[in-house]
Amino acid sequence: MRAIYLEQNPDKSTAASLKDLDDSALPTFDAKGVTVDVEFSTINYKDGLAISGKSPVVRKWPMVPGIDFVGTVQASDDANWRAGDQVILNGWGVGESHWGGLAQKARVNGDWLVRLPETLTAFDAMAIGTAGYTAMLCVLALEQRGVQPGDGEVLVTGASGGVGSFAVSLLSSLGYRVVASTGKAGESAYLQSLGAAEVIDRNTLSAAGKPLQKERWAGVVDSVGSHTLANACAATRYGGTVAACGLAQGMDLPLTVAPFILRGVALIGVDSVMAPAASRVQAWARLAKNLDRGSIANIATRIGLAEAIEAAPKILSGSVRGRLVVDVNA
Ligand code: NDP
Repeated sequence: MRAIYLEQNPDKSTAASLKDLDDSALPTFDAKGVTVDVEFSTINYKDGLAISGKSPVVRKWPMVPGIDFVGTVQASDDANWRAGDQVILNGWGVGESHWGGLAQKARVNGDWLVRLPETLTAFDAMAIGTAGYTAMLCVLALEQRGVQPGDGEVLVTGASGGVGSFAVSLLSSLGYRVVASTGKAGESAYLQSLGAAEVIDRNTLSAAGKPLQKERWAGVVDSVGSHTLANACAATRYGGTVAACGLAQGMDLPLTVAPFILRGVALIGVDSVMAPAASRVQAWARLAKNLDRGSIANIATRIGLAEAIEAAPKILSGSVRGRLVVDVNA
């Protein structure tokens, strides 16, 4: 099998290469091991970190990166899965502490898999990938707190990125008025085509701001963190909800308690990696139902396995628009 292979150099830097490996190199499981013929994987921000070695994402060496994949079960020790089943994997430490999806084969625990919804193709599933699934978890978090389309504007930060693009598309399909914040002035037309009603410059959110600002947002989907998340909370309307899932600007959060104790704003953390199976099934079912299929072609760019290594620095520099889908057999 061909795979992207990560090794740690003596100076702790990461060496990434495209290798031909024997299938016997795949990790084994005492029970519930499922071997999958991978069709597509993707390049997420975290994959960029793993491949470039910019952050200690990889917990075990050598590693095959790729935090998500879609494929067909080849063999299964788990009674829930049979050869021929089409399955999706997101997270669970795959591509970090277990070999991941940037390879022609993967072996994972059957509990980590979700069945591919009938109405999605394998390509659709990875165009959506962990970014789209996380965006859906954020939308569900807003819904669960009662944020409705009639309540007012919803802000999406990091809008031209993977999570942001799907958040814009999903929220606008559901009838929300979406305001997209981006650093890419040239991507306004792209964001409008996904359903953004207004596009704002991310510089208006990225510097230190007042603890309480004019109330604007009924809800927020934030993949950026730092001052951007602090300003988003400070301008969220009374009783509004902010779903936070990312740190593209920074891991810090320089805010005060004012939005929480004076406006009853809720800041909800969203994690896709260890999310329970029921949340995953719900998110994928809602993606299959609510996602505008036209947006998939708009958001996704297809690349081959050999191009995955050079894609890593691009995603880390924030220059990738939408999603990079990796055809592991090309
Ligand atoms: P992308 O790189 O595709 O998107 C991130 C976007 O953030 C960029 O496209 C850019 O959008 C914006 N951005 C980049 N740098 C900065 C900066 N310095 N200041 C402000 N905005 C910036 O990544 P993903 O969409 O895949 O992931 C986004 C974030 O969410 C990452 O931090 C990732 O780790 C996290 N994540 C978390 C998950 C979870 O389970 N909690 C799951 C998936 C992702 P623009 O140019 O439009 O402003």
